Amino acid sequence: MKTEKSKYKRILLKLSGESLMGDRSFGIDPEVVQDIALQIAEIVHDGIEVAIVVGGGNIFRGINGAAKGMDRATADYIGMIATVMNALTLQDALEHLDDPIQTRVMSAIAMQEIAEPYIRRRAIRHLENNRVVIFGAGSGNPYFTTDTTAALRGAEINAEVILKATRVDGIYDSDPEKNPQAKRFNTVSFDHALIHDLRVMDATAFALCKENGIPIIVFDLGVTGNIRRVVMGESIGTYVGGSCEIS
Ligand code: UDP
Repeated sequence: MKTEKSKYKRILLKLSGESLMGDRSFGIDPEVVQDIALQIAEIVHDGIEVAIVVGGGNIFRGINGAAKGMDRATADYIGMIATVMNALTLQDALEHLDDPIQTRVMSAIAMQEIAEPYIRRRAIRHLENNRVVIFGAGSGNPYFTTDTTAALRGAEINAEVILKATRVDGIYDSDPEKNPQAKRFNTVSFDHALIHDLRVMDATAFALCKENGIPIIVFDLGVTGNIRRVVMGESIGTYVGGSCEIS
């Protein structure tokens, strides 16, 4: 189902682990998660099919463990398990709203007591039934990121767009914290982003989106209502796409 107003029918929302921690330096802020759940519920009520990939950086990042001498693959598995904690937290928040949203957590690593296994066709079926599907455990493979997982799952479920929720309001031509003249892009092409090393997502994620023609919108999740604004086609954040003009 797609409402008259919405620009998209099926979206993939990428939430970093850090987006769940608010002002804390670690872990989960339940109030922030509640706000995100409300924002997601708004677009579900609009009839948009929502899949989510959630990161784990608020709890554990494999690369940091490896830097301290851990085996990298083992550290990455711990990172993937961290994403499942976030996925379950988000599921709980969505299902405890006054107007609850039906959800399924699908894990790329088997943990059948708490999550369904990831089965592509089943994920699509859930979406068609207006259940929010939350993908946990990343891609199930070490050496990858949840940005890459978002690009992969986005392609697999035919998402029309990847919404990359961040703490900044888009992509700039230089670091806005260091350069007050930094310019924010409204739209930018994949090629321009690549040539100018704009770091929309990590290289693997970016390549997957580019090759499969899946646009990415980078936007600030901290402003309540922004998820809905983006799916309604409001020009907030930065749109990265195949053949768009630079503006
Ligand atoms: N990870 C992984 N494979 C994946 C996705 C994630 O090994 O397919 C691990 C990796 O260690 C990563 C951690 O899970 O550091 C948390 O994911 P990520 O850093 O992407 O989370 P975010 O930055 O979005 O919070």
